[in-house]
Amino acid sequence: MDHRRDRAGGRRPARDGRALISQPDLAVVGLGPAGRALAHRAARAGLDVVAVDPHPDRPWTPTYAAWVDELPHWLGPGVLRATVARPHVWTTRPRALDRAYGVLDNRALHRRLDLAGVRVVGGFAAAVGTRVVLLRDGTEIRAGRVIDARGLSPDPALAEQTAFGIVVPASAAAPAMGEAGCWFMDWRRDNAAAPDDPPSFLYAMPLGDDTVLLEETCLVGRPGLPLDELRCRLDARLRTRGVEPPANLEVERVRFPVEPHRARSDVAAFGARAGLIHPGTGYSVAATLSAVDDVVGALISGSDPAKVLWPWPARIVRSLRNVGLSALLDLDPARTPEFFDAFFSLPVERQRAYLSRRADAPGTIGAMWHLFRTVPPPIRRTLAMAGVRRP
Ligand SMILES: Cc1cc2nc3c(=O)[nH]c(=O)nc-3n(C[C@H](O)[C@H](O)[C@H](O)COP(=O)(O)OP(=O)(O)OC[C@H]3O[C@@H](n4cnc5c(N)ncnc54)[C@H](O)[C@@H]3O)c2cc1C
Repeated sequence: MDHRRDRAGGRRPARDGRALISQPDLAVVGLGPAGRALAHRAARAGLDVVAVDPHPDRPWTPTYAAWVDELPHWLGPGVLRATVARPHVWTTRPRALDRAYGVLDNRALHRRLDLAGVRVVGGFAAAVGTRVVLLRDGTEIRAGRVIDARGLSPDPALAEQTAFGIVVPASAAAPAMGEAGCWFMDWRRDNAAAPDDPPSFLYAMPLGDDTVLLEETCLVGRPGLPLDELRCRLDARLRTRGVEPPANLEVERVRFPVEPHRARSDVAAFGARAGLIHPGTGYSVAATLSAVDDVVGALISGSDPAKVLWPWPARIVRSLRNVGLSALLDLDPARTPEFFDAFFSLPVERQRAYLSRRADAPGTIGAMWHLFRTVPPPIRRTLAMAGVRRP
């Protein structure tokens, strides 16, 4: 056992020689955004928490972003590195969205979710049970509750999002941005993809330090488009627009499932692993941060965190979002821009209901029905078929 990695875990040898960390109220496995938020808020609420991750202090590298109105108030100001008041999309035409969007400052978020008072253990969980976690080094953690926040690992059976991005100085990115200043989704076909190829879009987001992330993104695929293909498309698109990226760029490679693993488990989960990821967008960070206090409340009151996360309206929304995912996977590639044109023509409140309100069944149904009525007939058929296949 490597005691140097044990910052405050309080390990002691058990009778059989294994190290034992006993009886915290809560053991959190995984310190991504979900696990760290949970450990932080639970400790703040007075629970005795042990948290385990192979690299507990490693900074998060993905560029996390969210709609600003999704973030919970307790986070306070200062966790965003950039905000765009009116992000733009190019579907069949350019348009601005009346909903502020922000890129998270990972370091600031890490600090905000400080683990003061949490016993942090550096280690890899080999087995995770409802009340016990066994680490690879033999350490055993026995806890009142265990919450599995290990995220999602790639799985060929699952739909996934893939993307390839580069971070360039804002001046170099300018020709790709035009007057919009930011593209939340740019579906123009200047990326050398054939009309019937699976489509990808450009995500072009200012990062707040005079740099811009230019990312060719496959929203969902089963499997997602390979990263090499996305890299070629990004190169082609940037060449067409006259962008000359400088050498030695920071690169972002994205590949993660947008739906949870299918194997059932009795262990309560949180974050992407718990299904808090939106299958139609791949976003989970804001939903997770918003849900954390409900889970802490359940832990304190002794109720089941899964029941708190998944009341029946949330389960209905989950099914409806899965219908949406099926529709996206089945869409005729040539019609994808028209589909998103109809989506972004919805009143912003309807967009928000579909994208962000994970327990608002009437709002989600309203958004989907409105969309169904307004898309062109061939797309309507695809949506109807998705609904029939996934009730
Ligand atoms: C490049 C990229 C960009 C993204 N952008 C966005 C975005 O803009 N907005 C958004 O909402 N989502 C985004 N996502 C999706 C995002 O990954 C997830 O939504 C988010 O990271 C999920 O957080 P999580 O804490 O649930 O899981 P993770 O971030 O996957 O964290 C899981 C943690 O568990 C630990 N762990 C794994 N196995 C073990 C084990 N056996 N024992 C102990 N610990 C373990 C890992 O070390 C890790 O720290 C992006 C993903 C990528 C890859």
